[in-house]
Amino acid sequence: MQKFSIKSKIAIWFAVVLILVCAVTFYFITAISGSAAERDTRSALIRTVEENASEIKYDDGKLHIENKFRAYKNRISTLIYAEDGTEISSHFPYDEFLDDIEFEDGSINKVRYDGETYLVYDMLVKIRRHPDVWVRGVTATQGGSLIVSSVKKTALIAFPLLILLATAGGYLLAKHLLRPINQISRIAEKIGSSGDLSKRIIIEGNQGDELYQLAQTFNRMFDRLETNFEAERQFTSDASHELRTPVTVILAQCEYAFENASGEEELYEAIGTIQRHSYRMAHLIESLLSFTRMEQNTESANFDEVNISELVSSTCEEQSMIAQKEIILSADIVPEIRMRAERQMFTRMLINLIQNVYRYGKENGTIHVCLKKEASSIVLSVADDGIGIAAEDLPKIWKRFYRADKSRSGSSGLGLGLAMVKQIAEYHGGNVQVQSTLGAGSIFTVVFPIHS
Ligand code: ADP
Repeated sequence: MQKFSIKSKIAIWFAVVLILVCAVTFYFITAISGSAAERDTRSALIRTVEENASEIKYDDGKLHIENKFRAYKNRISTLIYAEDGTEISSHFPYDEFLDDIEFEDGSINKVRYDGETYLVYDMLVKIRRHPDVWVRGVTATQGGSLIVSSVKKTALIAFPLLILLATAGGYLLAKHLLRPINQISRIAEKIGSSGDLSKRIIIEGNQGDELYQLAQTFNRMFDRLETNFEAERQFTSDASHELRTPVTVILAQCEYAFENASGEEELYEAIGTIQRHSYRMAHLIESLLSFTRMEQNTESANFDEVNISELVSSTCEEQSMIAQKEIILSADIVPEIRMRAERQMFTRMLINLIQNVYRYGKENGTIHVCLKKEASSIVLSVADDGIGIAAEDLPKIWKRFYRADKSRSGSSGLGLGLAMVKQIAEYHGGNVQVQSTLGAGSIFTVVFPIHS
């Protein structure tokens, strides 16, 4: 069945079901019309015998048969026998086989003779003060089978025609209904070969039907693919762009050092610049790798039950020690909060949030880190009283390589920190939000739902 098209499968299914229906109908028609025909024959036989019996009289002690007696009527032969079974009158051509049949008043016998089935009906006619007479009616059941055979003939012609018609109809209907599928696969094929994800499937037809919905599902899938593909392309182009700057600087510094550097001091200066830009490249490459690993889910094996209260507390301590600005870090951490986490990533998320405050916070400002457990979640927040973020920038700060105001971050920010925070939070089943007022400060809140 595999190698057949859907159209052929539907047509075959139609044909098989119809053949079955026709066979069953044919069987019932023959059975019912056969038995109905026999029933009619039986009642005609009884009626004829009774009518003829009423025509038998005695006249002056002699048997007299009235004019209305019909020895052969409606394919029924009527025979008259004396009480002892001697034949008195017969028009039946094969009456010798009838001699072997016992007389039985009021019953119909079915007898086979010479390949034919006969019905034989006996009636004992009693006439007062005279000997009784047997009246026997005989008829072949052929009359009934004639009807049956004509029904059979009609059915044998009509049924194959009906099956042929329905199968062809089913095939054509399936072909018509499946036409949009061909359309869908042609367009999908075109999109696949041209790589043009902006193309969409347009099919004519009923908006409510399944094929229209299938086309819509494909279109939504293409929308998502296009968006993701576009984002990936943008990401690759941004990443290359970000890498190109340090590489250009490094190459320029190398050339300068080789060709122009006159003394040790200038050489040191060139090496210092090269080192700074190499660090930046290393940082960028490390971040890109982290994104890729998270997207490919290759780090899920490192998930552990972690005491995040301790983790947050030690990270805050380290960060405040290496701080480059006079900003006071305070922490309000509920002890012994545990959750399943990837230790390194979780630390990276917190470091990114804290370092942003050191980068965008005001001198002598504050950072407040808070970790607490609520009814159904663990909440980590990092609040500052720094420069804040403009309302129009808020939705964009989660995008990779987005820097709200390049002049504020100088050259040090890559625009990847918050994108990574968001991805790590989601990787842990949580989400991150921000509230910020320009010039007054920001609060970043990461919420992890607790699964009981
Ligand atoms: P960057 O490497 O530029 O810091 P991020 O993704 O960490 O990249 O941040 C994106 C932008 O969000 C930054 O350019 C900065 O303008 C803004 N930002 C992030 N954190 C803060 C903060 N705590 N206060 C003010 N602005 C912030």
